[in-house]
Amino acid sequence: MGRLSFDVVGKIALVDEKAMEVHSLRQEDVASALLSTLPIKSVYMVGKVTGEFRTPHLTWLGGERITRTVHKESGCTFVVDVKDAYFNPRLSTERMRVMERVDRLEKKLGRSVKVLDMFAGVGPFSVLLSKARMEREVHAIEKNPKAAELLRENVKLNKCNVVVHEGDCRQVVDEGVVRDADVVIMNLPHSAVEFLPYALTSARGGGVILMYTIGTDVVKTIPDVVKVSEVREVKTYAPNISIMCVELEVVGG
Ligand code: SAM
Repeated sequence: MGRLSFDVVGKIALVDEKAMEVHSLRQEDVASALLSTLPIKSVYMVGKVTGEFRTPHLTWLGGERITRTVHKESGCTFVVDVKDAYFNPRLSTERMRVMERVDRLEKKLGRSVKVLDMFAGVGPFSVLLSKARMEREVHAIEKNPKAAELLRENVKLNKCNVVVHEGDCRQVVDEGVVRDADVVIMNLPHSAVEFLPYALTSARGGGVILMYTIGTDVVKTIPDVVKVSEVREVKTYAPNISIMCVELEVVGG
C-alpha cells in the first residue's frame, strides 16, 4: 500500500481523499488496514472543507457509521462531530503556541487577560485557554448551531469558564457584548481579514489580534490602525501555500 495521510479524532480515522487518489489506494484496503492497527471504530475519507461552517465532505470507508466521538488534546476533552462541525487535530501545536503567547502577555501586563475567540468551533482554543487559568475572561462566538451546542458541552465537560455566544460574530460584536479584549483569535483563514473591523471594535488599544490567513497576500491590505508584529507559518495548506498566523497589535492604549 502507498503512503497514507490520515488524522485520528477520538475513535475516528480521517483519511485524506487527495492522498488516496495520488497513491491509487483502494478504499476497502485502507479501511481494513486502519481498523486492524489503530484503536478506532470508524474510518472516513475526507474531501473538501466547504461553506460558511467549514464542514468536510465525508465518505464512509469502514467500521461503525459514527461521526460523534471524544477527542483528548493537551489535557482537555472535546466532544466532536466530524460531520457537523470543524475540528482539526493538526492545530494542537498551534493552540499550545497561542497559550504560551497569552501567558507571556499576562506576565507583561501583570494580570489575567480578556480573550475573544471569534470563530470558536467546538472550542479547542477557548477551552484550553480557560481551563489553564480559570480567572481569564474567555468569550467564544460560533455561528454553526451544531458546533455551538458541542462548544457548550465541551465547556461543561472541562469545567471551565468560557462565555458562549451563539450567532454571527458581526452581530454579537455590534451588540457590544465583548469590548476591550486583550487578545482576539480569528481562526477563519479563508476570510478572516473581512472580519478585521469587528475584531478592532472588540479589542482594546494595545491589544493583540491573532489572525489566521492563507498565504501572506492579505498582509498588504491590513489598515494602519494595526501594526503587524509577526507573521508565522502554522502548517501547509496546499503545495507552496501555508496557513499563516498574522499577529497584529492594535495601535493606541
Ligand atoms: N477555532 C475552531 C478550531 O480551531 O477548531 C474553529 C475554526 S473553523 C476554521 C471556523 C469556525 O467559524 C467554524 O466553526 C464556523 O462555523 C465559524 N464561523 C464562520 N463564520 C462565522 C461567523 N460569521 N460568525 C461566527 N462564527 C463563524
